[in-house]
Amino acid sequence: MAGVDVAVIGGGVKGAADFYALTYTNVGSVVLIEKYGAPGLVNSNMMNNSQTLHIGDIETNFSLAKALAVRHLAEHTKAYLDRFDDSGALHSVYHKMVLGVGRKEMGVLKARFEQFRQHYPHLQYLGFEAIAELEPKVTEGRESRGISAIFSPRGYAVDYGRLAKSFVDRAVESREGFSARFGTEVATIRREGLEFVVETAKGDVRAKAVIVSAGAQSLLFAKRLGYARNLALLPVAGSFYHARDKLLNGKVYTVQDNDVPLAAIHGDPEAHDASVTRFGPTAKVVPLMERHNYETLDDFVRTGSLGKASLLTFWEVVASHPALRAFMLKNMVYELPVVGKMAFAETVRKIVPTVASKDLVFARNVGGLRPQVMDKVKQELQMGQVKILGENVIFNMTPSPGASVCLGDGFADARTVVGFLGPSFSFDERKYSADFRE
Ligand SMILES: Cc1cc2nc3c(=O)[nH]c(=O)nc-3n(C[C@H](O)[C@H](O)[C@H](O)COP(=O)(O)OP(=O)(O)OC[C@H]3O[C@@H](n4cnc5c(N)ncnc54)[C@H](O)[C@@H]3O)c2cc1C
Repeated sequence: MAGVDVAVIGGGVKGAADFYALTYTNVGSVVLIEKYGAPGLVNSNMMNNSQTLHIGDIETNFSLAKALAVRHLAEHTKAYLDRFDDSGALHSVYHKMVLGVGRKEMGVLKARFEQFRQHYPHLQYLGFEAIAELEPKVTEGRESRGISAIFSPRGYAVDYGRLAKSFVDRAVESREGFSARFGTEVATIRREGLEFVVETAKGDVRAKAVIVSAGAQSLLFAKRLGYARNLALLPVAGSFYHARDKLLNGKVYTVQDNDVPLAAIHGDPEAHDASVTRFGPTAKVVPLMERHNYETLDDFVRTGSLGKASLLTFWEVVASHPALRAFMLKNMVYELPVVGKMAFAETVRKIVPTVASKDLVFARNVGGLRPQVMDKVKQELQMGQVKILGENVIFNMTPSPGASVCLGDGFADARTVVGFLGPSFSFDERKYSADFRE
């Protein structure tokens, strides 16, 4: 049986970032284990998410404190892209804005702009004319000039799938003891003495510490090792519609409904093709661990998320709230044939008033799954990523903005892991500061 210091389970952008972050330590042997044949093919695949590098400047569902915390972590991803992606193979830069429609939303945006501008000096507050210049389709045919926007000239659209590959390649190239195994599904992780045995069909791996960044599967692994009994999964699938013609020049978000914790529909150009406009994501609860993979239904049941306590929590935190219930029902309609597109076009008209349902095409097999987590004891929905710290093991579940913060959080995990391994292991703070803080 092979033996390593650390095993990282999952080769999405989070597991890959963890793997890369461990190159900033003196840990000698690390293996990344991914069930598919390449990194970043599931939620991190660029077709399955909105490709936005969230830094908190235009996300009206973030408080100032949350926005700054997200920015702090997301800056690592930005710094990595600035340093290693001159060619634009991993990302593009577009302008981005959050649009306020009508007096109430304009008031929300103005107040937010005043609060945020000192922390995000690049932000501008735009009125109708300025919006019209940047995004003509947003103003064309609009009945009222009552719109405004918080605008950033530089927003990153990231191909998180390719970013995952870049992290893995760079780690393997730079450190001899780092290896990646693809096409290798982890069946179980069990403890044996002070170590873990990671069981796969291609042989077992013994590890002193483990980071599990396997999306929704992380929760099942955690439960099997005796953790997270209080948690249940709420997998929220997100689909997209493509516009037949280019409609936007940059990313256009809308003001968040405070009663709905999931991000509102927005319009985005594709990271690698500015001529393609995509709208979404929708939000539909599905009993799966991985979108479009119906074999994962069994594992979803095994997480206990269909048990009585989980269903009661779902009722308490989602279904009993009129605004959230209405949001969920509306989102289910979006995926129905014919009427779905009509309903979706109606929502998109907040961004592009002249859009008709014939201008949109449902993007088949596009869109991933956000592994949202519910706390059955506290009866609450936990927003953003959830981390469970065990004895020498970390489990990560990473709905949005998990991809944006992957590297910053990966460095946090790397520091935790050297703490697990003992005093002879350390994190190279000097190299980290030189690369990411100067
Ligand atoms: C519709 C949608 C829109 C989003 N938009 C954004 C956005 O704009 N910006 C943003 O920051 N985030 C966004 N997100 C969130 C983002 O996609 C995720 O945070 C990110 O991709 C999570 O990365 P991950 O590595 O944790 O998960 P994944 O990419 O899902 O990777 C998990 C990996 O674990 C592997 N795995 C699972 N089980 C096993 C096993 N048993 N053995 C071995 N390997 C296993 C899987 O094959 C997979 O490769 C969005 C998500 C969705 C669904």
